[in-house]
Amino acid sequence: MTLRQLHGRPVTEDVSDLSDWLRTLDDCPAITVTQPLSCADHGDEPATWFYVEADPAAGVARVRCLGCGRARHLLDSEKNWTYPPTWQCGNCRHSIAEVVTGGHESGGGVDWVAVAVRCVECGSVSGVTDAVVPAEAPIGQVFGRTAAIR
Ligand SMILES: [Zn+2]
Ligand SMILES: [Zn+2]
Repeated sequence: MTLRQLHGRPVTEDVSDLSDWLRTLDDCPAITVTQPLSCADHGDEPATWFYVEADPAAGVARVRCLGCGRARHLLDSEKNWTYPPTWQCGNCRHSIAEVVTGGHESGGGVDWVAVAVRCVECGSVSGVTDAVVPAEAPIGQVFGRTAAIR
């Protein structure tokens, strides 16, 4: 794990460090599984850069693939959407991030998820939202099917 501290913010070398960082979080259910998000609509090379909109108060999030513009909602975020602003790195103000979902496993899937982002420009990481999963689901399914943003 290669975490550096920069202005008090954890800075990571790559997206696997972001998964490690998620697993170290306390004050929340233990994160036992993590999944980097990628957009599969790009043939052999899945795209991993996203714009992220998230509202931690409402527990909603939406990610939009930089490559194809398609969006995915976290769980039922589309129904409860609060129109949060696009995430911006608190360190360098860039808005493009790699995204990792972390979940607390319970029985057949995860019952709670947290979404964390890593700025592709400076490596700063932060959590953007978390949500209870109403019906336990595999971690790979918490971000729903792709839909074009109107
Ligand atoms: Zn895409
Ligand atoms: Zn940054």
